[in-house]
Amino acid sequence: MTHPDLSLLTTVRADLENARRVLVVTGAGISAESGIPTFRGEGGLWEGHRPEDLANPAAFRQDPAKIWRWYRWRRGLCNDARPNPGHLALARFEARRLQDAGWTPEVGLADSPILLATQNVDGLHPRAGSQARVEMHGNIDTGRCTGCGAIAPLVENPKAPEAAVPACTDCGAALRPHILWFGESYWPGVLELCLHHAERADACLVVGTSGMVWPPVAIALRAKESGAKLIDVNPNPSQVTEAADHWLQGPSGVLLPRLLDP
Ligand code: NAD
Ligand code: ZN
Repeated sequence: MTHPDLSLLTTVRADLENARRVLVVTGAGISAESGIPTFRGEGGLWEGHRPEDLANPAAFRQDPAKIWRWYRWRRGLCNDARPNPGHLALARFEARRLQDAGWTPEVGLADSPILLATQNVDGLHPRAGSQARVEMHGNIDTGRCTGCGAIAPLVENPKAPEAAVPACTDCGAALRPHILWFGESYWPGVLELCLHHAERADACLVVGTSGMVWPPVAIALRAKESGAKLIDVNPNPSQVTEAADHWLQGPSGVLLPRLLDP
């Protein structure tokens, strides 16, 4: 484990303190210390399959029961996991900023002084208490009907067979996980909201994102082009590191509380 020196932490703390608006972009790495495997790290494979070969619409059409079996396994991991000190430090940081700005959900996300754009579907940011958030790739506890398009929390019969395909309670068609799969377009408004914040942010904090999925990196780079200080928190170099003003090298569960707590 590497520890950035104190002067670097002090510099980045000052950048955040001086920022009127902050954009935070998180990826699978922030949940690694909660025990949820990243896609490309150890434990990312399932029964020998790469996530790219499972998380795509063609794989679901071909064998929906198999995809549901994989999601039940992942959902179990996510539901058993708990937010780690990184998620919790971000939620406290956000709460202070929202309170200082007098922001409430009625004001809307476009005018929030901070936005958390997460690629994670594990639900750990909402469980940690983050409010001004957008789950760019969906949420593992939500289903979407392949027939009528209805989106609703997944309520599964615990006695259903492991490979069952859940059905829509409105129209009876098969449900799929409400998750953005490889090759699919972002839902309307999601990238627009993130870019709106990127163009206005004074600091952009990127945590645990490898950059293998491009749009989140593009959002971070847009923030930098628009004048934000770009900060990368990751034990390994990522697609963001080179462009970053500062790289805090190490695990986010250790670094974020040191960086963000008063
Ligand atoms: P990835 O495996 O490609 O990248 C993970 C990144 O996290 C790497 O750069 C790694 O160095 C870094 N990392 C590892 N441990 C860390 C730690 N303790 N602290 C900070 N950073 C750490 O994963 P990805 O590119 O984010 O995943 C691809 C897609 O799959 C994403 O869109 C994501 O939504 C999804 N995904 C989500 C979850 C989840 O919800 N938890 C898990 C896996 C994948
Ligand atoms: Zn339906």
